[in-house]
Amino acid sequence: SIEITQVGKNFGDFVALADINLSIPSGGLTALLGPSGGGKSTLLRIIAGLERPDTGRIEIEGADATNVPAQRRGVGFVFQHYAAFKHMSVAKNVAFGLEIRKKPKEEIAARVKDMLELVHLSQFADRLPSQLSGGQRQRMALARALAIEPKVLLLDEPFGALDAKVRKELRDWLRRLHDEVHVTTVFVTHDQEEALEVADNIVVINNGRVEQVGTPDDLYDRPANDFVLEFLGPIT
Ligand code: ATP
Ligand code: MG
Repeated sequence: SIEITQVGKNFGDFVALADINLSIPSGGLTALLGPSGGGKSTLLRIIAGLERPDTGRIEIEGADATNVPAQRRGVGFVFQHYAAFKHMSVAKNVAFGLEIRKKPKEEIAARVKDMLELVHLSQFADRLPSQLSGGQRQRMALARALAIEPKVLLLDEPFGALDAKVRKELRDWLRRLHDEVHVTTVFVTHDQEEALEVADNIVVINNGRVEQVGTPDDLYDRPANDFVLEFLGPIT
């Protein structure tokens, strides 16, 4: 699991996260859901080690990660606007994390092949990222994040920049991928429908605080307060 204990983060005198306590179960698909500015990305970045909390601690699968640098936390990360290496082929992009970890050549080749199959991009291995569609690029980003066999996969609005139809396709596809790979996954979204449809567990975050944690059914049937009730709102 990921254990988040009394995590606080200020930017100047602005409180971005106030005393967050949260347990994210292993092997699940967990959504951090909430309105813009609520602190979702900040919390995800703190889990990843890209941002330091002012207070509190982060434990990943039983080990204290609070002071462990991002590269050694065993996390794979995908952002909304994926920064691919433009001059490298899709296969090279997926291989990158393994190359810098100095894995043997044969192992890298086999792993890249598996990952491209997993995200259905095998036929595009030799293309450049600019020759992929937006949805294909995000699948490449996922393959790259998964290539290093992370303990935890962190996704920050991975489909946010895509049109509604592709978003929905990728959402269903993330669910299927997760059912195949079972890696502990935390994804950020401000889209309640996306969270309700895809996630095993939802953490509602607003104003730097956790409003509710539960399964989609818990939240929908028993919202903890007016904020959650209103934010989940009618599904359109
Ligand atoms: P969105 O859905 O718009 O991405 P979010 O829930 O991811 O929002 P965060 O990016 O975590 O929100 O930001 C939480 C608050 O902290 C915001 O008010 C933001 O302006 C502020 N904030 C985030 N990063 C910084 C920073 N580096 N310096 C100052 N303020 C910041
Ligand atoms: Mg954000």
